[in-house]
Amino acid sequence: MISVAEKRDIRKLSLDEIKDFFIKHGDKPFRALQVYEWLWMKAAKDFNQMTNLSLATRELLNEHFVINRIKVDNMQRSADGTIKNAVTLHDGLIVESVLIPHEKRITACVSSQVGCSLACRFCATARLKRMRNLSPDEIYDQVVAIKEQAELFFERPLTNIVFMGMGEPLLNYANVVEAIDKITSQKGLNMAAKRITLSTVGIAKMIKKIADDEVKFNLAVSLHSAIDKTRSSIMPINDTNSLEELGDALKHWYKKTKRKVTYEYVVWKGINDTEDHAKALLKFCKIIPSKVNLIEYNPIDDGEFQQADESVLNMYMDLLEKNGITTRIRKSRGKDIDAACGQLANKIR
Ligand code: SAH
Repeated sequence: MISVAEKRDIRKLSLDEIKDFFIKHGDKPFRALQVYEWLWMKAAKDFNQMTNLSLATRELLNEHFVINRIKVDNMQRSADGTIKNAVTLHDGLIVESVLIPHEKRITACVSSQVGCSLACRFCATARLKRMRNLSPDEIYDQVVAIKEQAELFFERPLTNIVFMGMGEPLLNYANVVEAIDKITSQKGLNMAAKRITLSTVGIAKMIKKIADDEVKFNLAVSLHSAIDKTRSSIMPINDTNSLEELGDALKHWYKKTKRKVTYEYVVWKGINDTEDHAKALLKFCKIIPSKVNLIEYNPIDDGEFQQADESVLNMYMDLLEKNGITTRIRKSRGKDIDAACGQLANKIR
C-alpha cells in the first residue's frame, strides 16, 4: 500500500501519462480517456464517482493517486448577488474568487497567485505579499466551483472568466496558460477563449510573449495613469517597466493578434483628476485600438486614496468618447462583502 502522503495528485498527469499507467498495470489504455474526462470535464472529486470504471480499476486508482481539489470553505453573498468564495488549497493557504452576475452574463473572477508581489499602493491584495503561484488545477477548480454556483443559484451557465482576482497572472504565466487550455478544451469546460480576459499590471516582456504565442484570450491592462511619474508613484512596477516599454509591447500585441486592449483606470482625487491626466490617457489610447473602463475605487484604507467626483469622471468620459475611444464607467460589485476589485485580502466577515 502507498501511504496517502506518497500518493501522487492524478491531475498533475497528462492524458498520455495516465495511459502509460494503465498499460503498466495491465489495464486498457482507453480507460485513460474515461478517467481524464471524469477529472476535467466532469470535475470528479472522488474515484468512486467514476461509475463507468470497474470497481477494481477504481481501487487501483485509489491505491496510487489522490485528487487534490480545492475546497470552497466560505461563501458570502452580496446584496447585489455577487458571491465571494474563500477557497482553501491543499496546503491550507487561502485564495478568493468571485461570481459576478450581470443581466446577460455570469462572470467568474479568479485568482492566479496566493497574494501578490506587485505592491500597487491602492490594492488590498498587495498587502499580503506573494506566497506562491497557483497550479493549473487550482485555477481550473475555481472556475468549476463558480460554474456550479451559477447553475445552482442562478440557473444560468457561466459565460465569462476574468483573471482579475488575487495575483499577477503574467507572473504565473505557464500555469495560467495550462489552466486556460483546459478550460477551453473539449475535454475540459469547452469555453471559448474569447470569453476569457487576462488582466495585468502590464509587464511589457510578457505581453510580447503572449502576443508571440498568439493567445486567443483578451487582454486588459491596469493602467491608472498614462504619466510615468504618477504611475510610478502608485504602481512601483512602472519604475522598471515604463509606459514607453508598455506601449511598445502593446503595439506588438496588436500586430500579432489584431485585438483591442482594455485599459482599467481609477480616477483618484489629487492623483490623476486633472485634464492633463485625461489628455495623457487619450494619447496612450491611440497607440493601439483600445477601450477604457473607468472603475470605481473601492476604499481599502484610511482615505489616502479617494475616488474623484463624478464631474471628473464625466470630463474623462467626454474627452475619450469625443475622440472615438469607447469608455464605460464600471460600478463596483460586491463591495459589502469585500469582493470588489482590489479588496481581495482574505478578510472574512
Ligand atoms: N494583477 C492584475 C490582476 C488583478 S485585477 C492586474 O493588476 O491587472 C484587479 C484590478 O483591480 C486591477 O485593475 C487593479 O488595478 C484594480 N484595483 C486594485 N485595487 C483596487 C481598488 N482598491 N479599487 C478599485 N480597483 C482596484
